[in-house]
Amino acid sequence: MTGCRLTRTTTHESRLTIMNVSVSPTDRIFILTGAGISAESGLPTFRASDGLWAGYNVEEICTPEALDRNPALVWEFYSKRRADCDKAEPNPAHIALAELEAKTPGRFFLCTQNVDDLHERAGSHNLVHMHGELAKSRCGDECGEPPVEDHHVYASLSEVGRCNCGARMRPHIVFFGEIPLEMDRIQREISRCTLMVVIGTSGNVYPAANFVHWARQAGARTVYIGPEPPLNAHAFTQVVEGKAGEVLPGLFEAQ
Ligand code: NAD
Ligand code: ZN
Repeated sequence: MTGCRLTRTTTHESRLTIMNVSVSPTDRIFILTGAGISAESGLPTFRASDGLWAGYNVEEICTPEALDRNPALVWEFYSKRRADCDKAEPNPAHIALAELEAKTPGRFFLCTQNVDDLHERAGSHNLVHMHGELAKSRCGDECGEPPVEDHHVYASLSEVGRCNCGARMRPHIVFFGEIPLEMDRIQREISRCTLMVVIGTSGNVYPAANFVHWARQAGARTVYIGPEPPLNAHAFTQVVEGKAGEVLPGLFEAQ
């Protein structure tokens, strides 16, 4: 890999030209994924069209205020996402990351902004969902009860269960304005990584958009993979332009 130079690699429909990312036996790898890695599994990205996610204005739905004002709409949205996710399958990008983890035991950490479970279903183990998980619910009053598994697709608000404390359950999702999960662990992993690879995220949702800066401060090499440069492209050592499912298989060269 070259020093701090921004390099671009392009993919074409019939010709795929990608540089390898070499992984040394001492590298500690931190992966950050966003909605783009699940796009080829048929799950729409967040800002695919004018800030809509699957036809909904998420900035009006994914907020604590929306949950207070219109819980039926919030549950309708996340029930539909659960149904979409159950139908989707991991794509070659999810599988390539699970294979990389198997080759680098103890030196691999995956942080996803995605709420789908496609990384787990591809075989990833050491991962955190910093923005929550679609297949879990938790107490709407945050009484301290832990989140519970919940794959249910609710047809109406009256079906949504109650916590032991009596409050209505809410999706286990980090809404805009709420604090992402597992930030201490994420910061610890970033501070000791030597290679950060960011895949399919637009670089405008914080704090995730800052991770590349923290990794650079820690001296890590930083690579971005996606069909267009993210907003924070300047912060990466290398930008590989292409779809995750086409670029990731075969990208990593173990030394
Ligand atoms: P975003 O929609 O803002 O950005 C998507 C990014 O993916 C874009 O930069 C786009 O260029 C890139 N992309 C599109 N197709 C790609 C492909 N085939 N390969 C690689 N990259 C591709 O998404 P974000 O930055 O992840 O932020 C949105 C937030 O919304 C996330 O935090 C997440 O919690 C939530 N979200 C989750 C899901 C999911 O779980 N599948 C889906 C949509 C949104
Ligand atoms: Zn409760």
